[in-house]
Amino acid sequence: MKTNIEKVWEHSKESTLMIWKDHPYLVMSWLLIALVTSVFPAIHIWLQKTIIDSITILGGDKRLLISVVLLLALTHILKIGETIGMVFSNYVNSVVNTDLTFRTKRLVGEKCINLSLDYFDNSILYDRIKMAVQSLTYNVANLLQDIIDLIKNIISITSVIIILVYAHWTLPIILITAGFPGIILLIFLKNRRYKETVENTSLARKMEYTFRLLSRKDAAKEIRIFQLGTFLLERWEKIHYKLRKVNLSHTVYEGKVSVSSHIILSLATLVIAVILVWQVDSGVLTVGDYVALSGAALTIQTQFGTIAQSVAGIFEKTLYINNVKSFLSEDIPHSLNVNSSAKINFSKIHIKNISFSYENQEKKVLDNVSFEINRGDSIAIVGENGSGKTTLVNCLLALYKVKTGSILFDDTDINTIDESYLRKQLTAVFQDYMQYQYPLRDNVAMGNISDIDNDNKIMKCLEMAGLDQFVTTMKDGLDSPLGSEFNRGQELSGGQWQRIAIARALMREAEIVILDEPTASLDPQSELDIFNRFHELSKGKTTVTISHCLGPAQLADQILVLSKGRLIEQGTHQQLMDIKGKYYKMFTSQAHWYQNSFAEGDVEYSG
Ligand code: ADP
Repeated sequence: MKTNIEKVWEHSKESTLMIWKDHPYLVMSWLLIALVTSVFPAIHIWLQKTIIDSITILGGDKRLLISVVLLLALTHILKIGETIGMVFSNYVNSVVNTDLTFRTKRLVGEKCINLSLDYFDNSILYDRIKMAVQSLTYNVANLLQDIIDLIKNIISITSVIIILVYAHWTLPIILITAGFPGIILLIFLKNRRYKETVENTSLARKMEYTFRLLSRKDAAKEIRIFQLGTFLLERWEKIHYKLRKVNLSHTVYEGKVSVSSHIILSLATLVIAVILVWQVDSGVLTVGDYVALSGAALTIQTQFGTIAQSVAGIFEKTLYINNVKSFLSEDIPHSLNVNSSAKINFSKIHIKNISFSYENQEKKVLDNVSFEINRGDSIAIVGENGSGKTTLVNCLLALYKVKTGSILFDDTDINTIDESYLRKQLTAVFQDYMQYQYPLRDNVAMGNISDIDNDNKIMKCLEMAGLDQFVTTMKDGLDSPLGSEFNRGQELSGGQWQRIAIARALMREAEIVILDEPTASLDPQSELDIFNRFHELSKGKTTVTISHCLGPAQLADQILVLSKGRLIEQGTHQQLMDIKGKYYKMFTSQAHWYQNSFAEGDVEYSG
């Protein structure tokens, strides 16, 4: 276990090196300016003392008057220099902040792309993504500013202390002793604040989610129809007040610490002022000495506050950066083998005794499922809602890693196949397909991004998905922006979005096509149209289709019937109809629905 001090050192070193590599001259000038301006307070105090002592003995001496005026001018030149230094430091800090945040955010983004899907299903892990993103936004970059401020203030305070030693060596000791409790308490408080933030991440996420519902298009209809506005606002308010209480109690704590440490430091400064007055009275010090030394004591008092803030800031930021780093360095088990050279040229896929449970859940969603798929066959998976159909295809797509049982392409385990190669062999349309708020071209080409400029191929896929006529109605053709989230974007119907998702999947020209309820948003005529097109297109390809509509299942080479995660029936349409089991019941009740239900008023739902 590394101590916090070691972590502070390590993170500070890493951040500095990262920035140094990009902007060596800027960082060097930043440091140089910090070093030069750090001695300004001491010079200022010395100037004040000399000016006051000179004024008290002026007595019409012209040369002395001129030197006083020059010293006064120097005081102001120093002030202007300090301001210029501050403006430059702010500029460098802004460059450094932007670049460091960008670089770290990119690393977090890269990590997110490679996370296995389980990560998003587990709320604890999801909280960690949130903490990492939040931590890097507010805390990564400012660490360097805090470090430079700390160096500057330590030099500053040391130079002023040297002046104070001139009066008596005990004076700085009094001030330093009085300043330490404040720093320690502040560090303790930052630690406490961090722990609270971690504890409340989930609640804060829930609050954000609830508020987001109010402003999201997909929730807008239900919120109005079911008059959920007030309910959601109240729910959001409740969490807000809970977090507000935690936040305010912390702010009060911080206020108490700040006032107490201020009182201790003020008392110490008062004691020093009394000692200085006593020394002026006994003729040891001049009035100029008094003004300069009491100024020095006050400067030290203020700088102790700044040092305390910098030290506590560095400590706090280190805790947050630690979050980002542990997220980045975590060894996330990848569902596939990224470094393998194994390719597949299979004749059969063997699904052998696979069982599956979602992360942190005991319930088996798939229970000892076994079947085989011949290359070029079409498979239909049917079953009631929640029977495990989507989970099964997600395992086939290697989105989830199967831990019990195996999926073999001939003899090659899916987990050993090279990821990028496997992805090229598979394509899919999901029921929760994406509606990218980008132009039509991007929406289709995202199925195979290297073909983004291949208009012919994009048009062909749109045609296969039955959207060729639709393109001709778009003002900017393939470059027409889609969706209502950005300016000029054209909103589409659910069915049109779904056809675009199908065109996107077709861009991939994969050997295995997986369709999870690909026609859920389509009207019966369009559904039939799409299934006919698919039947044509997928000749010679291996297809796995989940559909609530059992009609197209009749064309499949093999139908799998799932119930509560178990494969209960398997065969062609005719074979399953003959055994008069679950499939037979589902099929006949669906046929009954289409043929008679309206006439008889007998509505029965199945599947
Ligand atoms: P189907 O596609 O047949 O409707 P699913 O495979 O989607 O069924 O779901 C099967 C079961 O797994 C359901 O009980 C569902 O609640 C559960 N489930 C689905 N997705 C997840 C998930 N990401 N995390 C936890 N449980 C899930």
